[in-house]
Amino acid sequence: MALPTVAIVGRPNVGKSTIFNRIAGERISIVEDTPGVTRDRIYTTSEWLNKKFAMIDTGGIEMADTPFMTQIKAQAEIAMDEADVIVFVVDGENGVVDADEYVAQILYKTDKPVILVVNKVDNPERRMDIFDFYSLGLGDPYPVSAVHGIGTGDVLDAIIENLPTETEEENPDIIKFSLIGRPNVGKSSLINAMLGEDRVIASPIAGTTRDAIDTNFTDSDGQEFTMIDTAGMRKRGKVYESTEKYSVMRAMRAIDRSDVVLMVLNAEEGIREYDKRIAGFAHEAGRGIIIVVNKWDTLEKDNKTLQKWEENIRDEFQYLSYAPIIFVSAETKQRLNKLPDLIKSVSQAQNMRIPSAVLNDVIMDAIAINPTPTDKGRRLKIFYATQVAIKPPTFVVFVNEEELMHFSYARMLENQIRKAFVFEGTPIHLIARKRK
Ligand code: GDP
Ligand code: GDP
Repeated sequence: MALPTVAIVGRPNVGKSTIFNRIAGERISIVEDTPGVTRDRIYTTSEWLNKKFAMIDTGGIEMADTPFMTQIKAQAEIAMDEADVIVFVVDGENGVVDADEYVAQILYKTDKPVILVVNKVDNPERRMDIFDFYSLGLGDPYPVSAVHGIGTGDVLDAIIENLPTETEEENPDIIKFSLIGRPNVGKSSLINAMLGEDRVIASPIAGTTRDAIDTNFTDSDGQEFTMIDTAGMRKRGKVYESTEKYSVMRAMRAIDRSDVVLMVLNAEEGIREYDKRIAGFAHEAGRGIIIVVNKWDTLEKDNKTLQKWEENIRDEFQYLSYAPIIFVSAETKQRLNKLPDLIKSVSQAQNMRIPSAVLNDVIMDAIAINPTPTDKGRRLKIFYATQVAIKPPTFVVFVNEEELMHFSYARMLENQIRKAFVFEGTPIHLIARKRK
């Protein structure tokens, strides 16, 4: 099920991205940690009072060479299409300006709740200034100072109150996956080809929200799959749909709903910045990942082509060393019949639980061969390890001092765990924790 979604709208410079970053909190900093991944301030997930939601900063969906008013109109429309709750930000230092009124006019057309936020109210004495904003006709304004973190708690409370209550439970036996990639890499062709291959059922399920279309099918072993709709498969002809930032945002949303992500590359074009950004997001989100190189039929190949491609992909996506790579053609159907089994095995890896005794044997063997690091005379001691979560598999290693667990030593432990167990296609998380 899709996470309930909040979109932030408003003219430039009112403080949308400052508010977004404040609400996003630490999630953003995690994303920054993946080397080679450009930070994206368009989409994130967040949590307040135990309620999870997705958040879009429509201000980040820029459209080059598009007039100012057209852009802010498109951003407001994206919010109305994609979100359950809209946060409309205005600037308390400037009072109401024409562009605010213009955005308000567009938002009148939606039935969705709109929360009016007056930002830059840094000084409590300025709170009187917010009354001007009643003229926008969108109810009570919430005064906020995003830079000082004043008032954002009230806005979050209002967001939570207005989010739809969750409906149906997810069926954990159904594997949810999505095909992600730039326009024209062949996502739709792959989907059609996959559904065409002796699959038992193919039923489009009209999503309850935002007219997302998912497709269910069952393979010959009886395994059920849900294929999640992404941008590029469904063209409605809005101005913003062809923009890259919009497509990145849609891809991020699909990744959040997926167990396994098929990252589709085009053999004719190679790897682009977009691919890295999206793959980095899937990695950080802890999803299963398969790298699918499509249009393999278009290349003139010799006996080194495949190996060269593999090396190049490993080089460009260093943090995805665990992801299997498959070279396919939607056109000739080459290797397409291997995809469902590959998705299944990656999903199994995501769900695998290692008994503590077996895990600790592996860890102790690793320590015996690779002495623990020392820092300023103190040596890292590892007491024991245990798996605390699946999807992605997450291990806690109890130690004497967390800071002594260096990145390179953690990487070595991860590699030893990967050697001992088949975690193909899934990131694994290793957390050092001080033994109390
Ligand atoms: P956006 O274009 O709407 O995303 O706006 P930004 O978040 O980039 O902010 C625009 C400018 O306003 C930046 O220089 C921010 O530092 C500043 N700003 C944001 N929030 C506040 C605030 O609460 N108080 C003050 N004084 N400045 C702010
Ligand atoms: P999408 O935008 O990612 O959904 O891409 P499409 O599935 O619409 O494909 C874009 C174009 O690439 C179409 O003209 C397809 O016929 C073509 N195409 C897709 N897969 C292959 C392939 O494996 N080989 C070749 N030669 N062309 C392909």
